[in-house]
Amino acid sequence: MKVKKLREILLDSVLPEACLMCGRSLLGRRSGCYPVCRDCRDGLQFLEGERCSRCGRPLLSEIEVCLGCRDRSPAVLAHRSLLAYDYRSAELLRAFKAGGTQSLAALFGPRLLGLQRQLCPASALVPVPGHPTARRKRGWDQALLLCQAMRRAAVAASASGRSCGAHPTPIPQVWPILQRGRSRRQKELSYAERQTNLQGRIQLLPARPPQLVGASVTLVDDVYTTGATLNACCEALVHAGVSRVFAVTIAMDL
Ligand SMILES: [Zn+2]
Ligand SMILES: [Zn+2]
Repeated sequence: MKVKKLREILLDSVLPEACLMCGRSLLGRRSGCYPVCRDCRDGLQFLEGERCSRCGRPLLSEIEVCLGCRDRSPAVLAHRSLLAYDYRSAELLRAFKAGGTQSLAALFGPRLLGLQRQLCPASALVPVPGHPTARRKRGWDQALLLCQAMRRAAVAASASGRSCGAHPTPIPQVWPILQRGRSRRQKELSYAERQTNLQGRIQLLPARPPQLVGASVTLVDDVYTTGATLNACCEALVHAGVSRVFAVTIAMDL
């Protein structure tokens, strides 16, 4: 019996959970080590098609760059998101963050790694620091967990690539080097307030990797709303000598 199948049977016996998207029992329908059934996982509408080369929004009649990005020059070179932010992805994110379903990182990790490879495979992963109060209450950091799941997916892909004799795939480093000072929560603020709320509040920790200067990095976060948080992180990184900053998120407001 395959190890994966055995693991699913074991999980069914010790964790007879319901799918957190449709509510049906996961018995025989498990799609991985996270509580989402196969049907719901396969039904997730990942963003595809023509997208703005900068912010990653699906393009309508525009060419290459969306109307919003024509009027602004965002600090992040390019951003890509897995899903549109709707009631389904919101439920998944709520379970991941507020519900403490950390195993969902395994659902998102390999897919976020796919986006990072489209943007810049050689980049290091930098988790966007969450609000300090939420982080303290939760006891773990969702963006760091996503980075670690991405790295695990790269290690697994590299191992299977080597066994087929293919060229080894790059395994990104994870650099948790940013911290967020006290500020109002971004989700409580208007568009204009979000742009200034984090000014100077994102800083680099004193311990930094020696390769930081001149490096390419990919910021990793759960949701993209206005891009203000990513831009604040980007400014701190560029100030410290990083040369190129990309970003990937699970869901974006369209
Ligand atoms: Zn389901
Ligand atoms: Zn755009």
